[in-house]
Amino acid sequence: MTLITGVTCPVCGTLCDDIEVVVENNVITDVKNACAIGAAKFLNYSIHRGLKPLVRKNGELIEASLDEAIGKAAKILADANYPILYGWACTSCEAIRVGLELAEEVGGVIDNTSTVCHGPSILSTQDVGIVSCTLGQLRHRADLIFYWASNPWSAHPRHIERYTMFSEGRFQKSTWKEHLSRIGGVLSRRRLRRVVNLILRRDIPEAPKIERHLPYTMYRKKRKMVVVDIRKTRTAEAADYFLQVKPNKDYELFQAFRMLIRDEELNVDEVAGIPVELLEEVADVMLDCELGIFFFGLGLTMSEGKLRNIDAAISLTRDLNKHTKFLIMPMRGHFNVTGVNVVFTWQTGYPYAIDFSHGYPRYNPGETSVIDILSREESDAGLIVASDPVAHFPQAAAQHLAKNPLIVIDPEVTPTSLMADVVIPSTFVGIETEGTAYRMDHVPLPLKKVVEPPKTCLSDVEILRRILHKVRKLRRTSN
Ligand code: SF4
Repeated sequence: MTLITGVTCPVCGTLCDDIEVVVENNVITDVKNACAIGAAKFLNYSIHRGLKPLVRKNGELIEASLDEAIGKAAKILADANYPILYGWACTSCEAIRVGLELAEEVGGVIDNTSTVCHGPSILSTQDVGIVSCTLGQLRHRADLIFYWASNPWSAHPRHIERYTMFSEGRFQKSTWKEHLSRIGGVLSRRRLRRVVNLILRRDIPEAPKIERHLPYTMYRKKRKMVVVDIRKTRTAEAADYFLQVKPNKDYELFQAFRMLIRDEELNVDEVAGIPVELLEEVADVMLDCELGIFFFGLGLTMSEGKLRNIDAAISLTRDLNKHTKFLIMPMRGHFNVTGVNVVFTWQTGYPYAIDFSHGYPRYNPGETSVIDILSREESDAGLIVASDPVAHFPQAAAQHLAKNPLIVIDPEVTPTSLMADVVIPSTFVGIETEGTAYRMDHVPLPLKKVVEPPKTCLSDVEILRRILHKVRKLRRTSN
């Protein structure tokens, strides 16, 4: 039995790097420190995995050798005029880098999952800038936490524990720890009373009852949490303030806050379904804090207003900085979706939706983004890496993708891989192979290999390198 410490969890953008994994005979038998989602991945990753390369023959996916699958994939890409290369948020930065080389070589379009999540946040950041920080700074200093249109309790379960309300910072104490230590104190007093009763045969009065509902300290202490969402989520239940905004009215709410921060009058009773009195109270809380942060999720980027919602959020942050210190950060979902934006940018200058068909990188989301290209039925081949667009794209885009000769590199069997012409199972990054990923605050972290992969599976990096090598060979021969 081996205990491997300091493992980074390859599931969500929080990238918890304190996971401990117990391995026996190359099988993960126990996981410590991970949330339920992270533990489920470590313990069950191998259940639905693909093991053998598959190539479609006479309409059916048939087992093939790795060389045959790589040869067929290279041929599809080398013959295509306008291939798309999509996915990349669940693989390593090293694989993404090779993917960019491949996209340039075949003159295709390379895009990542930002196109359907925080693409509007990126566009908005390019327009108006962003004032941000690392999660470590927030853990130690932030005394006002906003979760706007995001529900970390369910989607990033350890975010609150590691970096915000329940984290123990140098200057900000954990409200959760305080609650637990209070329970611990009461239990110790009870134990002591029982011992004294047994030894002295005297009756010491009983300790007060423990209340096991949400920590009372959260409603009293300095560090505060505000949740803005269209429904009451688990995160909202733990918040000091919950603002239930009407769907698609976030933009109005940001502008109302901007007016209140500037001490302007709101001549209405409510904005976006929230009474102005409550907004005034929350605006005062914002102005009174020492360091505040807006974490925002897809409820902002994918509702009406899209990038304009983020413009308004960043503008409010900028306004608040005239009075106090305020920051803003998107809650990134897939474990390396930040990394894919970073690698795309340092290789080409652009974070997603990059078109190499002119021989140089061109970027115009809405025109060069993969969903738009598929909806216009322009692509003639597809390479999908560690993603499942058939399950998530709009129907018309998914239908055209399935009509293209399609290559899938993914450790898992997905609806997309079932539609593919070539399927190459890869190793799980962060479990069976090492690599690098970027946390949501742009901090790069190493992903560890904790078990040996099956002999039939190579890493994404190795598969992509072999395809690139073969494509170059094919193109040299045809020229
Ligand atoms: Fe993994 Fe995210 Fe859970 Fe951390 S919060 S253990 S990164 S799934």
